[in-house]
Amino acid sequence: MLYFRSLASGSSGNAYLLRTETISLLFDAGLRRPALEKVLEAEGVPAARLGGILISHEHRDHLGSAAEIALRHDVPVWANDEVLRAAGLEGLNSAAVLEVGRPMLLGDVEVTSFPVSHDAVRPVGFLVRVGGKVITIATDLGKPDGHLAEAVAAADLVVLEANHDPEMLHSGRYPPHLQKRVAGPTGHLANYQAAEVLAQHVKSDVVDVWLAHLSRNNNTQTLALRTVIGILRASGLARLRVEIARRDRPSLIWSGQARPQQLSLFGEECA
Ligand SMILES: [Zn+2]
Ligand SMILES: [Zn+2]
Repeated sequence: MLYFRSLASGSSGNAYLLRTETISLLFDAGLRRPALEKVLEAEGVPAARLGGILISHEHRDHLGSAAEIALRHDVPVWANDEVLRAAGLEGLNSAAVLEVGRPMLLGDVEVTSFPVSHDAVRPVGFLVRVGGKVITIATDLGKPDGHLAEAVAAADLVVLEANHDPEMLHSGRYPPHLQKRVAGPTGHLANYQAAEVLAQHVKSDVVDVWLAHLSRNNNTQTLALRTVIGILRASGLARLRVEIARRDRPSLIWSGQARPQQLSLFGEECA
């Protein structure tokens, strides 16, 4: 059994749930505890049954209630040393080090973290091997690099940040310093950058793509899909299935199964 679900994705909170025969893992825990407990319950995985929480970096929208959940339900938390310290998790009994670049087996799931370029102490993405499939999760990064390219190239499902549209960002309400931070090399990936990463590195045109961490202020689902799909089509990758992970609610599910032939290229769309 392979069940991967986007529970929330964006600056108000990020969390992805992976369930297999042997373990349930949470990638980031960026929701408040009651909300997270509620969505986990609805998924049939009460927080106490989590086999672990993996934290990508110490920003609040990823760290959220990790410490509270870990303490209250005795759930192990993994992150690299620097993130554990920056997040104030290093004193927890259940906190353990996930070394960057070193694969770790949790139940039947192998997780390897890889560095990303972002303004946090030691931010990472995750490459997850499960049931012969690979899921790559990469959000919160300002510029693509070789690590990202490799992780995308290995993936059957790519969860990739498409944070903003540069024009919306520059004409929007953010003050100049914040615009600069978001668009900079340690900020967030723009729609067109996400598209270029995919166009250059996905291993085939049957890979599934979830666009994630869309900005509430500087992007729309329609714009993200249009930009990404436009660039992919121009690159001969018209068959890639591209969908949007919703910001504020559980949305997409992936089970690793081959998709039926004639599916719409467009995922869920709204303004
Ligand atoms: Zn974030
Ligand atoms: Zn961040």
